[in-house]
Amino acid sequence: MNGNAHIKAVYAEIRRRNQGEVEFHQAAAEVLDSLGPALDRHPEYAGTGILERLCEPERQLIFRVPWVDDSGTVRVNRGFRVEFNSALGPYKGGLRFHPSVNLGIVKFLGFEQIFKNALTGMGIGGGKGGSDFDPKGRSDAEIMRFCQSFMTELYRHLGEHTDVPAGDIGVGAREIGYLFGQYKRITNRYESGVLTGKPVAWGGSHVRTEATGYGAVYFAEAMLATRGDGFHGRRVVVSGSGNVAVYAVEKVHALGGRVVACSDSSGYVVDEDGIDLGLLKDVKEVRGARISVYAEAKPSARFSARGTVYDVPCDVALPCATQNELGREDAVALVKNGVIAVAEGANMPCTPDAMAVFQEAGVLFGPGKAANAGGVATSALEMRQNAARDSWTFEETEARLASVMREVHAECRATAEAYGGNPEDYVLGANAAGFLRVARAMTAQGVV
Ligand code: NDP
Repeated sequence: MNGNAHIKAVYAEIRRRNQGEVEFHQAAAEVLDSLGPALDRHPEYAGTGILERLCEPERQLIFRVPWVDDSGTVRVNRGFRVEFNSALGPYKGGLRFHPSVNLGIVKFLGFEQIFKNALTGMGIGGGKGGSDFDPKGRSDAEIMRFCQSFMTELYRHLGEHTDVPAGDIGVGAREIGYLFGQYKRITNRYESGVLTGKPVAWGGSHVRTEATGYGAVYFAEAMLATRGDGFHGRRVVVSGSGNVAVYAVEKVHALGGRVVACSDSSGYVVDEDGIDLGLLKDVKEVRGARISVYAEAKPSARFSARGTVYDVPCDVALPCATQNELGREDAVALVKNGVIAVAEGANMPCTPDAMAVFQEAGVLFGPGKAANAGGVATSALEMRQNAARDSWTFEETEARLASVMREVHAECRATAEAYGGNPEDYVLGANAAGFLRVARAMTAQGVV
């Protein structure tokens, strides 16, 4: 851990008070590691407990989610919502349904969300939630009953001015629909802005589905542009094949790049002709099949159950699957094969070791809290449309997303240069810029 004695003491206290929450420790260390220069320049934040308060969620909810499966058996899952920081606006952050979900994972995601949301400049606080419920293989009726039970507890903590969840891994438009329906029934309010990621037909925003993937590609494009480069003619690998990954592939292709590999948790496919987006969407979004089915349908593609997409030579890598999926060895392989830029579509996909490898090699590296901020930024645009009972066109919404991503990129660069001297240190830039916005608001609002 870098930084002054104060930062080290805060980190030691995080580890002591949150034992076993390894992902939260990792996320906190990454941010705290960057804050030395900002705290040196702003000693006023040292005496007001800003760091201590930032690292302690305002509220943490853990609740039972009982539901009945199709065979009549009662199942019990655990629900979480961590309302981390509301200095800049209502808590905002997605819900993740995945068997790996635990308090440490929800806290790491909620902590990241504070800085990411601050970076968007859109007046949203940080939070995250989810459940260890595994939606894989569950019927539509089971998903609905689970969502209804989850919301039967969570509704009392939500509100368009209080806490506004969205989707994440395992939670898409279908789940948001069931959650919204139950919220509306319990509260007797059609409160459109209480959840984002709704279908466009009833209060959702155009481009929300595409936003995180598109945004990550816009961010990578902005990084490349600083070196007079772009996606045109570039080889790209994308990990995952879920919401973020699919739309990252779509935007890379639109910009003239060629995505040659993508994955899911069962393995990866390489397609030197370029990933066929129509086929990928059919396999993953329509059929809900394993990624190997893509290779079975396309002669130019091969499937591998071993290794990762990072074994495939590329110019740009976009990790869009899950936390800690890209380790030191993957980073070394990417650098050896000549990667020039890495932008995190997922949250914390690169381990600290991997980040160090990229930094040492001079690879352009966009951390998730900046590179994947397009999703939550478009959620904030959805909230604006809901508040105004308005609906913007796809083109207008995408133009706003692109502009937010350019601003986030510029802010990271300017802050990195001002506080560390190296404009390409996007990690320092994102962490310090997000921190300063939240710290200013927290200071003005007193010790609460
Ligand atoms: P999805 O559930 O739609 O997709 C996740 C994808 O990652 C699936 O293809 C999944 O495969 C794959 N995956 C999971 N674990 C691994 C692994 N170990 N190796 C390879 N592939 C894996 O989730 P999203 O696309 O929504 O989210 C992906 C990431 O982006 C998460 O980190 C999320 O927090 C982050 N994010 C998402 C936002 C959004 O708007 N959706 C916003 C900002 C960040 P399988 O189906 O086999 O499990």
